[in-house]
Amino acid sequence: MDEMRYQLDLLTAINHRMAGQEKMYRLICESSVSAFLYVSFENNTIQCLGNWDNYFDFKVTQLKDISYFFDIVEENDVSRLRNNLFLEKRKLEQETIECRIREKKVWYRFDTKVIYAEDGQPSDKIITISDISDIKKQTEELVNMAYYDLATGLYNRNYFVMMLGQFLRKAEEENTTVSVLCIDIDDFRTINDGMGMVIGESFLQTFANYLKQFSDENTIVSHFTSDLFCIAIYDPYGTRSVDHICKSIKDKIRTGIVLPDGQKILVTVSIGVAEYPEAATNALELINCAEIVMFKAKALGKNTVKYFDTPIVNEFLQNVEIENQLKTAVYDKEFVMHFQPQYYIEDEKLRGVEALLRWYGNGNRIVSPSVFIPIAERNGTIVTLGKWVMEESLKKFAEWKQEFHYPLIISINISAIQYKQPDFVDYLIKTMQKYDIDSNEVELEITESVLIEDFEEVIRKLHSLRDHGIKISLDDFGTGFSSLSYLKGLPIDTLKVDKSFVDTILIDHSTKIITESIIHMVKELGYKTIAEGVEEKEQYDYLKSIGCDMIQGYYLGKPMSSDDIKKLLSDIS
Ligand code: C2E
Ligand code: CA
Ligand code: CA
Repeated sequence: MDEMRYQLDLLTAINHRMAGQEKMYRLICESSVSAFLYVSFENNTIQCLGNWDNYFDFKVTQLKDISYFFDIVEENDVSRLRNNLFLEKRKLEQETIECRIREKKVWYRFDTKVIYAEDGQPSDKIITISDISDIKKQTEELVNMAYYDLATGLYNRNYFVMMLGQFLRKAEEENTTVSVLCIDIDDFRTINDGMGMVIGESFLQTFANYLKQFSDENTIVSHFTSDLFCIAIYDPYGTRSVDHICKSIKDKIRTGIVLPDGQKILVTVSIGVAEYPEAATNALELINCAEIVMFKAKALGKNTVKYFDTPIVNEFLQNVEIENQLKTAVYDKEFVMHFQPQYYIEDEKLRGVEALLRWYGNGNRIVSPSVFIPIAERNGTIVTLGKWVMEESLKKFAEWKQEFHYPLIISINISAIQYKQPDFVDYLIKTMQKYDIDSNEVELEITESVLIEDFEEVIRKLHSLRDHGIKISLDDFGTGFSSLSYLKGLPIDTLKVDKSFVDTILIDHSTKIITESIIHMVKELGYKTIAEGVEEKEQYDYLKSIGCDMIQGYYLGKPMSSDDIKKLLSDIS
């Protein structure tokens, strides 16, 4: 009796617990935002649970009802869904698929979980159906952000690189070519600075909309940064040939880009073109090549299309190498100053020396200052390098001065960037004091490029230098925008007639006339003249006959080491 009572109590307790648990699971199920489809293979029943009624207007009570789903999902998704819903046929425990629901324009996710009995047969299956439209939308936005450029709506760089990679793989298989065009708006800064950022952006959008017309399955149009656009063309020919697209762009900009507010903007563009497989075989390198030739097109005066050729890219790569080496160059070890004598023409007496920088770059290979000075100017190294030049030149000059007491002038080349530095004058004066050098022994060679920016400030500095007694020489005269009229009133002492005049002075009649009149005018203005690059006696004689004051050139002396200058001084002292 006791035994029976115990069993009964136990059963009651178990039932009670199970009822509680069932209630809990039902509650969880019913309060869920998802809908569930529960299939019991053992009992051969199917139940619709959870939030079912919010999802579907049909019920699934037997296996064949599953076909109702196939009527509501997008056609492409039907077969995947069918596989998934009949999943128990395969030995898979869990699978997830995402389907678009046609009429509601939403996305549902079907998570199927199959439970297997000990004998390996499926016993139950639960399919959880959730509305994932919000997640999908967010993902889509993220994808858009990842692939599109927000400013213009064109593809961004990432997408471009990815698609270009696909083009290249396909081109390799099909043995054809792919062209990349880098299109850069010339002087975009003047639009941005002169008309404002809003106009600048509106212009870029309008230009991007125009470029969009070229976009199709074989042509990707993208916006990289600011005013740089890139187009990749698979198998370029016919209306998608490079020539056709470049011509169309040029025709378009010739008539002006009209902004939505009616404003017309006239611009030019520089285009660089590189082609697979000639220029490069991978996407990034191909883009690089196109960009490099685009820069070259800009350097050649803008408003042009330039096609890839190996020397352009090699020159660029060499410049990059020089730029990197310059950053780490240890001045005292890799650089050395050479000095080229300058003579009075009248009596061939030594007047002074021009300090010329020499760089023994990588592996003691000598790099010409005409190559590395422009690079140092671009990356700013010129400021430190220029200080080193002043220090080193004045140090050597001090040694000669102590040893020979010869009245000599040292001319130092000063680059425009260096001249602009606020501490430039102070640094020079301090270094001169350090080596006990008088200001009338120092001459600075500046070029017209110094005069281009902030003319008043430049002139103020020139006056301050001359107040200290330092001489100023205008270098490379005749190569820039030089006009004789603007020379008037410039606080300078000497004018250097460029080598290009001297080169042809004996053979070209008009050069002869120009040089004569320059020398004549300059004298009238009270400046001295130095002719540079004099290589022959005839040039020397002619320059003397027209009244040039001084000469510098291989004819009387090449640039030489400080020790050689010492020898020269010891011979004449
Ligand atoms: P630059 O100031 O016009 O210097 C004259 C250049 O002509 C020097 O070339 C000199 O070696 C060369 N030269 C002189 N006489 C003759 C001649 O008779 N025939 C020929 N064929 N060439 C002659 P370098 O030393 O290669 O310098 C090139 C340029 O590099 C210089 O032109 C100057 O603009 C720049 N540079 C050189 N040293 C410095 C420096 O210390 N600082 C700065 N900022 N620039 C420098
Ligand atoms: Ca010079
Ligand atoms: Ca010069």
